[in-house]
Amino acid sequence: MVDARAIHKHFGTLHVLKGVDLKVDERELVFVIGPSGSGKSTLLRCLNRLEEPSSGSIMVDGIDMLDPRTNINHARRRIGMVFQSFNLYPHMTALGNVMLALRKVAGKSRGEAESLAHAALKRVGLADRADHTPGQLSGGQQQRVAIARSIALEPRVMLFDEPTSALDPELVGSVLEVMRDLRESGMTMIVVSHEMGFARNAADRVVFMDDGLIVEQGPPGAIFENPAHERTRAFIGQIQ
Ligand code: ADP
Ligand code: MG
Repeated sequence: MVDARAIHKHFGTLHVLKGVDLKVDERELVFVIGPSGSGKSTLLRCLNRLEEPSSGSIMVDGIDMLDPRTNINHARRRIGMVFQSFNLYPHMTALGNVMLALRKVAGKSRGEAESLAHAALKRVGLADRADHTPGQLSGGQQQRVAIARSIALEPRVMLFDEPTSALDPELVGSVLEVMRDLRESGMTMIVVSHEMGFARNAADRVVFMDDGLIVEQGPPGAIFENPAHERTRAFIGQIQ
């Protein structure tokens, strides 16, 4: 589903990604960990070309994301992204936020957008909150609206960049539960997060990044209990 090879990214003189290779199979959930500043967000942002990689190749669902002939707006619709900040429009209801994406990004009619938006909100457990504005919702509910907005567009892969980091601890579970449902429905997912419990029971593979490179990767049990590299061991030791 995702095949990124030899991705480099420079910001001026700063070399942030130093040749990252990342392959993700259909239906796989890959969990990315690593110290702050190691390049996790930049990698996700390169995958859907929110950032322009300096070099490398990226295929997503058979589409060459770096080919100038690729219609990037069209290609991006296959890639949902959820950020730490929910980025909802504060003056619009939950339904309105999801509908807006369906109308503007997918060109759906008002009626179709409305029924798809209702279905997406139902999937994230917010059928009864459709008419609430973000200010009337908890952080966890707002993040679930953001997830509904993404999945309504029927992406082939979902990227999550620290989706629960801004939430109060008691609100984290509801968002992780939605992510677990999504995973069980067969969504391909790349998740940057510190929720190691979630990684242990939902991830197929854990990727450890440090200083712009993938240092090691493997099944959660192997990475958490028996990391091969000293840097991985040190990082796991800090966060557990
Ligand atoms: P992580 O998500 O692992 O914390 P990031 O990908 O956000 O790491 O950042 C990696 C490095 O790239 C950091 O040193 C950060 O300051 C730098 N960086 C990220 N985005 C930009 C940008 N737009 N301009 C300049 N430097 C950036
Ligand atoms: Mg980040």
